[in-house]
Amino acid sequence: MTDPVTTISDRGLSAALKKIRDLMGTLESSHNLKSSIPGFGTQKGIYKPQNSEYALWIRQTLRGIYPDQEPDVLPDGSWLYKYTPEAKDGRTDLSLSTNRALFSSMRDRVPVGVFIQRESRDAQRTYEVMGLAFVEDYDGTHFTLHGEPIDIEAEPMARQAIPHFEPFDPSELSIASSIRNMRRKAFQTGVRRLYHEKCSLCELGYHFKGEPIGIEAAHLIPVKDNGTSKDLRNGILLCSNHHNLFDRYLWTLDQDYRVLVKDDGLFRKSAENNHVLKMEGLQLPNLPDKKYDLPAPEAIEFRLNLFENMR
Ligand SMILES: [Zn+2]
Repeated sequence: MTDPVTTISDRGLSAALKKIRDLMGTLESSHNLKSSIPGFGTQKGIYKPQNSEYALWIRQTLRGIYPDQEPDVLPDGSWLYKYTPEAKDGRTDLSLSTNRALFSSMRDRVPVGVFIQRESRDAQRTYEVMGLAFVEDYDGTHFTLHGEPIDIEAEPMARQAIPHFEPFDPSELSIASSIRNMRRKAFQTGVRRLYHEKCSLCELGYHFKGEPIGIEAAHLIPVKDNGTSKDLRNGILLCSNHHNLFDRYLWTLDQDYRVLVKDDGLFRKSAENNHVLKMEGLQLPNLPDKKYDLPAPEAIEFRLNLFENMR
């Protein structure tokens, strides 16, 4: 498979979709989106550009009348999201041009952008840019949207058949840097979503102007050892403090997700006030909600070996 956006013949649509993909994982004010995303200033719900048969994006507002659930993130970084079709006079009307556009997107596998409004204390409305998604299905009440995986050239994985964890990706270091950067960004975003935007160990996490501050997705099997960035089960979200200590192999997690701390007297003395010592022997308090998204046993094992053998 190739990048699904590059095969779209409508240049305008293709460029707009790329723009949405570039914003993936960010929080944006509606003010910013109005100036950068076609239709955002005028359209709610589903937006279909006038001369296109496909939808460009859908957005979910906080006070939407439809009960939509949070996206469900899968280990390949793709996500599933149910979206209610647009209604007329309180009734779903599939003949509306917006709903028909989503069916066209589904038929021809043309992705759409997905925006979800988030709580904010500002007067400005804030949207999370979920990224691009395929319209996978319509079950009579909802469209199922399936977000792009980290590897945009791969098919998103099915929730019913999650493949076994593939720990290594030797191609990572030889691919074009633009693709590598995109994958790393998608890996960061996916891990942040799984860990509720907070450090797995101390549960701190901040945002300012849409950017996360001081929270970072760490690889369990390091990239320099060919650890994969295409599978979120090789990741864990940490604050900068606990990421630094993790990178120096001063703590790790065991197969029950309990915190192990380096047996080094001087380190322990120096780290007296660090939360990591209070957590020793206890299970990490912030883990993914779904079992299939937890760190892979093979990745934990690899990390444990590094932790035990690194001086
Ligand atoms: Zn932390």
